[in-house]
Order: sequence, then C-alpha cells, then structure tokens
Amino acid sequence: MATGFVFHELYLWHNTWNWNQVFPPSLTVQPGTHAENPETKRRLRNLLEVSGILDHLVTIKPRRATVEELSRVHTPAHIARIREISDRGYGDASSLTPLGAGSYEIALLAAGGAIKAMEAVITGQVDNAYALIRPPGHHATADVGMGFCLFSNAAIAIRHAQQLHGLTRIATVDWDVHHGNGTQAIFYDDPSVLSISLHQDNLFPANSGAIAENGEGMGKGFNINVPLPPGSGPGAYAAAFERVVIPALARFKPELIVVPSGFDASGVDPMGRMLMNSSGYRRLARMLLDAARELCGGRLVMTHEGGYSEMYVPYCGLAVIEELCGHRTGVEDPWDQLMGQWGGMSAQPHQTAIIDQAAELVKNIN
Ligand SMILES: [Zn+2]
Repeated sequence: MATGFVFHELYLWHNTWNWNQVFPPSLTVQPGTHAENPETKRRLRNLLEVSGILDHLVTIKPRRATVEELSRVHTPAHIARIREISDRGYGDASSLTPLGAGSYEIALLAAGGAIKAMEAVITGQVDNAYALIRPPGHHATADVGMGFCLFSNAAIAIRHAQQLHGLTRIATVDWDVHHGNGTQAIFYDDPSVLSISLHQDNLFPANSGAIAENGEGMGKGFNINVPLPPGSGPGAYAAAFERVVIPALARFKPELIVVPSGFDASGVDPMGRMLMNSSGYRRLARMLLDAARELCGGRLVMTHEGGYSEMYVPYCGLAVIEELCGHRTGVEDPWDQLMGQWGGMSAQPHQTAIIDQAAELVKNIN
C-alpha cells in the first residue's frame, strides 16, 4: 500500500499569537499560547520521523493553491480580506481566528497541499494520502474564516477533483470533535458530495451540527450529522461508523473518500470532552480503508484539522497513518491501555439513541 504524505515547514510558521484566543487582547488572564499552535503538528511530524514510518510514506510536495482554485469555494471578498490581514501583519479572520504576517501564503500552501494529496490519489501515484497541513479548514465557509480556519482545504481539493479530474461523487467523513460546519455549508445543496460529520453535540460552532441539518434542495439527504453526547468513546464512534457512516457510504457509492481528520476527540484533549484513544482512531481508519477498498478502489485522502493535546495527538496520528500504509512501527502508545480501562469507553445507551436517530438518515440518500 503506497501512502502519500504532505507536509511543509511553513505550515508551522502560521502565527496565531498568544492572546488567549481573544482578539483584541484583554488584560484579564495572562496571555498564553493559542490552542491552535504549531506544537501538536510538529510533534506528530517528529514522531513519524523518529518511529521510522516516514521512510514508508511517499513524500508529496505541496504547492500554493491559486486564487482561481480558492474561488471555486470562497468569495473574492473573503480571499481579499484574509490577504489584507496577512499583509498588515496581524488581525482576526472573524472570532478566535488570529493570523499573522505570511498567513495568507501559508494558507494557500495548505489548500494546495490538500489538492496535491487529492491528485496523487486520483492519478494512482499513491493508494491513499495524509495531508498534515495547517491552518486547518473545516470551519471556514464560503465567505468567512472561523474556528482557527481560513480556507476550506478539503472543499477546495474536492472541487479541484470534480472540475479537473471529472469525479462526480465524493464523500467526506469528518471525525474532528467539532462540527464540520464549513464543509456542510459549502455542499449543503449539492448532491455530488455526501458530507458526514461526527462531533460532540453542540460544541462548536454553537447551534450547529444537529441531526435535522440534512441538506437542502438537490442536496437534501446528502448531509448527515451525528452529534454524539459528551463522553462518547471508541465504542460509540465504532457504533456510529457501523450503523451510520459505512451504510451511508455503501448507499452513496463515492469515487473517493475525504476525511477532515481532527484528533481533538481524544480523552485528554483540552478542547473537547470525548474519550477516544489511538486504538479507537486506528479502528475507524481501518473501517474507512475497508469501505474505500470495496467502494472506490481504496481512494482515501485525509486532511489534518484539529487536535490540541501536545502529548497525545502524535500517537493518534501515528496509529491512523500506520493503518493507511499497512506498516506497524512497533511504537507503543503508553496511554492507550490506561485509557481503555476508563469507564464509558463502550457505547452507552444515551449515545446509541443518537446513533439510532442518525441511522434513519441513511435511507434519505438517493
Ligand atoms: Zn476541532
């Protein structure tokens, strides 16, 4: 199995400042590092190197996306605004989304990294790919950046695949702990993209990601949300995959699957209240790989989103990438077994009740 890997040092130079995520800065609590800082991404990349798995991956060099490529998803006003803030040297894309000098160019490199990963999979250069890109993208809508996201990397890559490579049916499975509201909004009336998001119920954005948000117009039925209760662990996620995600993919029959991949559903993440561990993510990756092999020649592209535990994101990322390329490094996650013994790791009745409701949506895919 050939797995592509996208990374660039500049991804870590995107400056989110130390404003306690509040803009403008306030003199209330001592400023600290922004949650969306380079550290988790750098540490994941470092573990890939130290574990030796990088030698088993195919390096895919990113390029900057063009304004034309961005414009397939974003409005000219939004693109110009991000560029203006970046050229000025500091500012906030909306709320909670600070950027600094050069962030515009780095965001182009992130979107272009997603495009390059997509192209490598479509052309058969690799079987699947993981794009460790930054800034993230799944909260950005057509006309606004939010939730640490400037441009919608996954959506830009999907439009590229459709318009330049002729793909007609692409599915997204977003396992970031927050709702993939941007991806949902961009494809909400579009039946060519099945958007599935599993997330902590009503976490971020507020009042976003309910089961009732099922698409509109021609896209009715092609948006599925699984708003899991706080405290959901590997059992609930696996049940949601078995009963919602995999049946939905089987019904939709995508030509390629995109995973906006956040590791902030882990049991030790500061930004979420879920209980996933690395073996839980590994299992989800395995299920998606099996579905992709059955439905679309194994074509699977993951684009990095959130994940804020400096000590744990690397283990989750390594587990997923081990599954993608089929190579085990032998690196043990020292926390996996400990977390596996926590209470609530299996699917709980109040969690399966939500999954049951979401499962009803599968039949709406026509
Ligand atoms: Zn997130």
